[in-house]
Amino acid sequence: MPMKIQFSGCVKCRLPAHVAQGSKSEHPSGALAIVTCFHGPVHAAKRCICGASSLSADGEPASVLEEVESRDVAWLVRGTEPAAPRPTPMPGHRPRALTRPLVGERVSVELPSGTVTATIIGVTGRDHDADPQQEILLDRGFACGDSGSAVLNVDGEIVAVVRNTGGRCGFVNG
Ligand SMILES: [Zn+2]
Repeated sequence: MPMKIQFSGCVKCRLPAHVAQGSKSEHPSGALAIVTCFHGPVHAAKRCICGASSLSADGEPASVLEEVESRDVAWLVRGTEPAAPRPTPMPGHRPRALTRPLVGERVSVELPSGTVTATIIGVTGRDHDADPQQEILLDRGFACGDSGSAVLNVDGEIVAVVRNTGGRCGFVNG
């Protein structure tokens, strides 16, 4: 189920409000978290230096658990701790095998307007061929507010989040 991630904006720091999508997901440590994109609300909240503004998930305060700018992915937790500690794996938790999306694989994308299907037509580096392959390119584009939407494989695992309108999505794992 998509949820709304919001940065309220900050007049003092001259930062406009931002909105993106997020989804409940398991952080690689096993902690329950919300996965979204790094750019937009998370990046904007980081740039507010006066602390007057806040991040929220569906209206509830949220804070950043981990961010990976190179994959344009961020995990949030509910709560207002300014620096949420990185959780240690839960007892008995076995990290899931990392699922790397492959070219030709069918995926579904949970957009605010509903779930759509797409095909992976490329596994790419962020900006250059030499970059680590941490993004997928889908055979469809997205709207601006779709950033952060979850991309699910056929097993229902969240493998990536929407990065831009051109159909690029950053890997959630590795
Ligand atoms: Zn500020």
